[in-house]
Amino acid sequence: MKPLVPFVSQSTSGDRLAWEKVLPEALSGIAEIRPFADLTDDQRRAATVAIVANPDPAEVAALPNLAWVQSLWAGVERLTAELPEDGPLIVRLTDPKMAETMSEAVLAWTLYLHRDMPRYMAQQRRKIWHEHDHRAAAERTVGILGLGNLGSASAQRLRANGFNVLGWSRSEKALDGIRCLHGPDGLKTVLSQSDITVLLMPLTGETRGMIGAAELQACKQDACLINFARGPILDTRALIEALDHGPLAHAVLDVFEKEPLPASDPLWEHEKVTVLPHVSSPTTRSTASKIVAGNIARYFSSGEIPPSVDRKRGY
Ligand code: NAP
Repeated sequence: MKPLVPFVSQSTSGDRLAWEKVLPEALSGIAEIRPFADLTDDQRRAATVAIVANPDPAEVAALPNLAWVQSLWAGVERLTAELPEDGPLIVRLTDPKMAETMSEAVLAWTLYLHRDMPRYMAQQRRKIWHEHDHRAAAERTVGILGLGNLGSASAQRLRANGFNVLGWSRSEKALDGIRCLHGPDGLKTVLSQSDITVLLMPLTGETRGMIGAAELQACKQDACLINFARGPILDTRALIEALDHGPLAHAVLDVFEKEPLPASDPLWEHEKVTVLPHVSSPTTRSTASKIVAGNIARYFSSGEIPPSVDRKRGY
């Protein structure tokens, strides 16, 4: 008999139903996927691995013998906050397709800023015909904060498109063609030299509020910011101050402290802000479900659990 793997999710019903279709297909022959609500008490006790997407922590706790959970998302800050430290290991989704999708978004919105699109859109609304000086990509420095799966793919894609790229991470790193820095001094250097800074680090105890007034004031005059990481990493009040009074010229925001962004939030109408509804790199179900199936197949055949989140570091 195939082992049974619970699927624990509080996602919207459309999202849940889509996963409930694709996961059993990808895992056919490996395991039977069953929604948490359909499990008997014995089946809950027998489960040693579960697939989770925005799960109710009480439902995860009701699976007492879990060795690990496989998240369908790359960002796991809610899981690390909600699951006990001595609970199951947390394996996040690492999918090369997600890195490709994120690097496409980073390139697209970097080009949007590099080619002055917000400014030309504002001019069009006022019927102003006015050319601004063109700068070549090689004359534009883009700083990537966070050089993990998503950040390093994005840095390399920008480099391939001719930008001068700086990268910053917690530990020392080397990436071909990219000047990599780390530590607090490294952050100041990246911010002070970048025309466009892209946030791509995880939300942890250390990164929460990391980009505040001092960091934003260290940016170059007329620099731009892209936040594709998580809302609470960036201090919104300090951001608005830096947009209104310098040095920032524009911000592209895909992630927010509260999502969906409330209708009353001033960011919606700020002329120097582009608001996106958390779309820079959605999980691709077709590739993610194959990766999850591979992880679970290896676990059932050899007991191997994929690399998991370091609970002390938070990512
Ligand atoms: P990852 O592989 O874990 O990489 C994280 C990177 O951030 C690493 O380079 C790490 O440094 C660096 N970092 C962590 N804490 C740091 C700190 N305190 N100071 C400096 N650097 C720090 O993560 P990933 O897969 O690239 O994903 C990054 C984040 O993107 C996710 O956590 C998620 O929040 C976000 N995301 C957003 C979307 C979206 O649609 N908007 C989609 C997917 C993911 P080391 O290299 O030294 O470890």
